[in-house]
Amino acid sequence: MLDKSKRQINYLRLSITDHCNLRCQYCIPEKNTDFYNNCDLLSSDEIEKIVKAFSLIGIKKVRITGGEPLIRKDFQKILKKINNTQGIEKIAITTNGFKLLENLDIFKESGLNRINISLDSLKPHRYREITRGGDFNKIFETIKKAASKGFEKIRLNVVIMKGINDDEILDFVNLTKELDIGVRFIEIMPIGEGKKFTPIKNSDILSFIQKNYCLEKNSNSSTDGPASYYKVPGFLGEIGFISPLSNRFCDSCNRVRVTSNGFLKLCLHYDKGIDLLPYLKDNTSIEELASIIKEAIYNIKPKEHHMDNSENVENIESKGMNKIGG
Ligand code: SAM
Repeated sequence: MLDKSKRQINYLRLSITDHCNLRCQYCIPEKNTDFYNNCDLLSSDEIEKIVKAFSLIGIKKVRITGGEPLIRKDFQKILKKINNTQGIEKIAITTNGFKLLENLDIFKESGLNRINISLDSLKPHRYREITRGGDFNKIFETIKKAASKGFEKIRLNVVIMKGINDDEILDFVNLTKELDIGVRFIEIMPIGEGKKFTPIKNSDILSFIQKNYCLEKNSNSSTDGPASYYKVPGFLGEIGFISPLSNRFCDSCNRVRVTSNGFLKLCLHYDKGIDLLPYLKDNTSIEELASIIKEAIYNIKPKEHHMDNSENVENIESKGMNKIGG
């Protein structure tokens, strides 16, 4: 479907939990107790109904996220239900890699095409500090194994923060020498705990890398998202830049979100949207739900975010990234 700004909306980011096994410093407060009760999270049947309705309005790709999606015991059941939905062509996950190693084959068989793993440091001690407890060695092994399993894409999400991990930029680039993965630098956004950190512009990261490597644009990279991709000639993998602040990509925004408690969220930065839960609990048909969703997208999806200057802007999202579905 097209929204009011004539953008093709074909991508759903579906959060299935706001809970996480880690407490990344820029995402969840250390002593966070503000999680939804498990019984308030969408059930696998409700998720199935939502995805079926979204497929009727033209959604072709679903990214499962959270919180940490793999924390859900019924993850595979959810994956299979999405995979069995007519019209859904791609299923992706954003994860910290928790419980991925032992399930790579099973998830691949169940329909998972693409995996994004979040990793903000290649130094075990620092990784543990940033995530407040993460096991770098296990995640790194997972990444290497995943890269050899024939998934369509394995990508790393890397948030670079001034004074914290900005000395590792070239180490991340070097990772693409032997591993056929995409390393994507994501600008930290002023959302939730992210407000406490100093962002570094991706254009500065790119210039810094270019002082050391002659990068070439990777036009072969099939990107259906906002990242722009480069390659170091001769390296197996690629490097991507997602720059929501310094290079706003709202004009080509193709996505909407559903939070883990069933709220249809139409822009990362705004709290505008509608609660789908009542339509999941009653006997609203999938066709009716699809038309409710379509109308909401058309009427409410904002033209652009204002993260770079949100003073005096109303309806700014106040929830953390784990609740929004990052
Ligand atoms: N637990 C999963 C993971 O670690 O990938 C999925 C949820 S996490 C919220 C999704 C992504 O959001 C991660 O790659 C994380 O780095 C990113 N993220 C969280 N807060 C952010 C912020 N303020 N700015 C930019 N990215 C952020």
